[in-house]
Amino acid sequence: MKAAMMSVLAAVSSVSAMELNQWSGKSLVKLNLNTAEEQVRFAQLADKFDLDVWNRNIDTATGASTVEVVSDIHLDTFQQEVVTPDLETYFADFFATEPVCNNDPLYCIGNATKSGTDSFYENYQRLDTIFAKMEAIDTSSELVDSFSIGTSFEGRDIRGFKITGASGFGGDKKIAVYNCGIHAREWIPPAFCVYAIETLAAEYGNVPEITSLLDEFEVHTIPIANPDGYEYSHTTNNNWRKSRKPNAGSSAMGTDLNRNFEFQWGTGGSSDQPSSDSYKGAAPFDNLESKALADYWDSLSPRAVVQMDIHATGNMWMYPMGYKPRSQCLTDPRGCGVDNEDDFDAHETCGQASRSAIADVNGFDFAVGPITWIIYQASGSTCDHAYGVSGIRWAYAIEVRGPGFQPNPSQIVLSNTELYAGIVAQMRCIVDY
Ligand SMILES: [Zn+2]
Repeated sequence: MKAAMMSVLAAVSSVSAMELNQWSGKSLVKLNLNTAEEQVRFAQLADKFDLDVWNRNIDTATGASTVEVVSDIHLDTFQQEVVTPDLETYFADFFATEPVCNNDPLYCIGNATKSGTDSFYENYQRLDTIFAKMEAIDTSSELVDSFSIGTSFEGRDIRGFKITGASGFGGDKKIAVYNCGIHAREWIPPAFCVYAIETLAAEYGNVPEITSLLDEFEVHTIPIANPDGYEYSHTTNNNWRKSRKPNAGSSAMGTDLNRNFEFQWGTGGSSDQPSSDSYKGAAPFDNLESKALADYWDSLSPRAVVQMDIHATGNMWMYPMGYKPRSQCLTDPRGCGVDNEDDFDAHETCGQASRSAIADVNGFDFAVGPITWIIYQASGSTCDHAYGVSGIRWAYAIEVRGPGFQPNPSQIVLSNTELYAGIVAQMRCIVDY
């Protein structure tokens, strides 16, 4: 009982500390971008005003798309509708009615007594709870091992765990690496990085397709790639995206870790202003978290064949390149893909395999294509570096279901289930390719 009361108090205090007034006067609007001219004009505005894009749907046949964007500037030259009129009220309601379980093992870990499901996946969890859950899965399965890829700026462990079939890790097994939580406020993906290992462990030996795949693959996940930002997004600012490293000569904190990778760093679609949400850092890899990920991928060479960076939100299943400007793919996605045509085909083929497996689960449809074609130019990203430097052929960056970065937690289970089908289809596609 005492533990329960402490949990409630902790939840309340974290809500009151949250900087909800940052949302004052802001709404979420959906813009229709029907022509190439509108898309280029929006891309320029997004870059200039550092617009906060939450969602994008693209009709890959016609190129027409819609974007959901946080609006506090005039966007009325586009055809638009209001999605959420008052984001301050929206988040105040959200945090009042959806308590975060705050490190309390009674309420967060493996508590299958309520409605026969695991309450871990019924809410967004804090870092310690996620680590405890990972340890519990590791302890309960002989197939699972834990590891650490490094330490964050504020000294937190960047933990991962991995699974393979009964013959063990190593040999000539292929490796698929999935990382979640590089953008702090995107709370829905980390649950998947835990769920994937837990479900693979439960299905090995019981589901023939999973047994077969895990006899050929090691699957590694890093659930919280940006632990400092993730905790800050829970305690203080639920819209925090970046790392928590101070910037010399500026009061603005943090770097967009997904613009801090070395390959084609700073060549477009990132900012040199520390106050920007897409700040690329003062130099490539001047943040411990991005460097730790890249070093980890390099350590797995040449066995690593998949690296997928999982974001929210927007039903997009993207592959390299992100650094190429939109002008190279106004009408043909191939213009923004990798130069190697065989690899482009490999990205597209296995991306479509994931898309179709996901659509079979919940009917949720992902758009598949190069980053710039699907969303916007973004250099110095995980995906480009994994392919361009670490030599990982199937590099993807995906945006999962929303709406928003912190949708109702009821979406977590749906997202987990469909993404799991997506990665199983991905590994099958690669084995058969
Ligand atoms: Zn993101």
